[in-house]
Amino acid sequence: GLTLRGLTKRFGTHLAVDGIDLALSEGEFFCLLGPSGCGKSTLLRMIAGFEPPSAGTIRLGGQDITGLPPHRRPVNMMFQSYALFPHMSVAANIGYGLKGRPRAEAAARVDGLLRLVRLDGLGDRRPETLSGGQRQRVALARALAREPGLLLLDEPLGALDRGLREETQGELRAVQRRLRTGFVVVTHDPEEAMMLADRIGVMERGRLVQVGPPAELYRRPASRYVAGLLGDVN
Ligand code: ATP
Ligand code: MG
Repeated sequence: GLTLRGLTKRFGTHLAVDGIDLALSEGEFFCLLGPSGCGKSTLLRMIAGFEPPSAGTIRLGGQDITGLPPHRRPVNMMFQSYALFPHMSVAANIGYGLKGRPRAEAAARVDGLLRLVRLDGLGDRRPETLSGGQRQRVALARALAREPGLLLLDEPLGALDRGLREETQGELRAVQRRLRTGFVVVTHDPEEAMMLADRIGVMERGRLVQVGPPAELYRRPASRYVAGLLGDVN
């Protein structure tokens, strides 16, 4: 699993992420919940290796990865704006990270991923001919292509309308269960976190203020802030 110790990020004098301690078990579905600007994306970017921490350590599977460049970490990240390559087919988008692999192996893997996200038969299409939810699933398949031990998803369903969002939530959870890859999913939708997560971490101004299973946060919120966030859900 993933272990964070005292993970901190300062931008000038602003503490964007403030001493995060967290241990995730292998294959856990973890949701990071909190308002805009509380440091969710910055935390994910540090775990992925795109942002050097000001202090603290990141361990994954027993290995200290704090100083490793992104491509050497067994982690992949799906960004808040997940932009697909518009000039490439769906299959080419998904296979983008498999370039060094033998052709047949890469093709078989792309086929498997298309089935996994229920897009079989759509591999030759261009992204612009797909619905929003289908594009989101292409981005998910692309992020899974290199079989990361941990997948970080920043607001993966943010751009979807309500119906599509619920449908894709179910899909996301089903894919995660099948693969048993650890997922850390950022959302600012409490309902979504309650529905998806094994555990939720609530962030407030750079700090993790409470971590626990959805039911526990709902029944025993550690603060008014957490109660306010989750109170009107369910
Ligand atoms: P949102 O829900 O709006 O995406 P977030 O929780 O992901 O918000 P972050 O993007 O992590 O928030 O930003 C946390 C804080 O750090 C914000 O106050 C932001 O302005 C600041 N910040 C983020 N990146 C930088 C940067 N490169 N330089 C300076 N400040 C930054
Ligand atoms: Mg963000």
